[in-house]
Amino acid sequence: MHKITLKPGKEPSILRFHPWIFSGAIKNIEGNLTEGELVKVYSSKNEFLAIGQYQIGSIAVRIITFSEENVDYGFWRQRIQNAFALRISLNLTDNNLTNVYRLIHGEGDGMPGLIVDIYDKTAVLQFHTVGMFLVKDDIVRALLEVMGNRITAIYDKSEGTLPFKAKVKAQNGYVYGNSAPTPVLEYGNKFLVDWVEGQKTGFFVDQRENRKLVEQYAKDRSVLNVFGYTGGFSVYALRGGANLVHSVDSSAKAIELTNQNVALNFDNPSHEAFAVDAFEYLNGIDNKYDLIILDPPAFAKHNNVLQNALQGYKKLNARTISKIKPGGILFTFSCSQVVSKVHFRETIFSAAAIAKRPVRILHQLSQPADHPVNIYHPEGEYLKGLVLYVE
Ligand code: SAH
Repeated sequence: MHKITLKPGKEPSILRFHPWIFSGAIKNIEGNLTEGELVKVYSSKNEFLAIGQYQIGSIAVRIITFSEENVDYGFWRQRIQNAFALRISLNLTDNNLTNVYRLIHGEGDGMPGLIVDIYDKTAVLQFHTVGMFLVKDDIVRALLEVMGNRITAIYDKSEGTLPFKAKVKAQNGYVYGNSAPTPVLEYGNKFLVDWVEGQKTGFFVDQRENRKLVEQYAKDRSVLNVFGYTGGFSVYALRGGANLVHSVDSSAKAIELTNQNVALNFDNPSHEAFAVDAFEYLNGIDNKYDLIILDPPAFAKHNNVLQNALQGYKKLNARTISKIKPGGILFTFSCSQVVSKVHFRETIFSAAAIAKRPVRILHQLSQPADHPVNIYHPEGEYLKGLVLYVE
């Protein structure tokens, strides 16, 4: 294993178990490293600190262990076993009402660069780093061993998620078994999930608990679900007794699936879905809705575009807050990792001030427990939401 030595003074974050080493912290790399290789990290005083996977880019090493141990099949199997044990304690495995959950959440499960979502008996994998991608065979084998007959197919969807400059290329496809997209269950609601053509791994698993909260507020309200994707929030709003639900997404494919998902769950729903731009749609909604959900895509993927992203969130929310019916409830979200909870809260505060309406915070939302946050890696807390009461 090659050795990486840190510059003096760059050790504290590693000693506090932060799992990233930035390229600027490195004094010396021994030998010729190829992307994805395992490396041992040493302090400037030559003390062992950690083992990680080398990466080309500003994050140069993703730490996988702070112990000097073998990183082999058994190591990965244990990590997957631990992740599975957590989902068992969350009552997400073998659950009759919910068979969609996240099994591996990157750093949150000690496996930086790997996402595994479970859709009933299909596991969908997404590799975000070359290091993890290179141990794909071990991961697949371990998943099958740990999950047993709970899994009959594994689909790898990493074509668009590996760093685009990486030498290794991923190809989407089944790495085990085969399955056709079938309806899955979330709190008893049925959803068609298309992991082959859909966004991310096919479904936004991270909004489960927040959708459930929308159900509690929906009774007798006129609901607008903006950036609705395949209608997750819309189905819950209908379940909760909404008067009417409108879904908006710019993707025609997503709107088609929204209509199918609503039809799967209800016979005569008062629902309509529109494949239009959210910002334009919001221009014409004065006093029409008293429950609005805003769940936009990540406006900022990098720190250098943070300011633009915050402006985007502000504009979107100011427009919505100014147009919601008095007594209306707004669920507003940001899933950009670089936008912190504090940033987001300040942005919504500015948006409310632009709209000049009294606004109170009812709930502060985040990601569900199957998207755990490693306490030493606060960046893992990416989903932020506020539920606002607008007078
Ligand atoms: N709320 C969804 C997830 C939303 S993901 C759920 O619970 O499943 C963000 C969605 O925003 C995507 O479906 C994307 O197609 C849509 N989108 C992106 N830009 C948009 C725009 N300008 N107008 C409308 N929809 C947009």
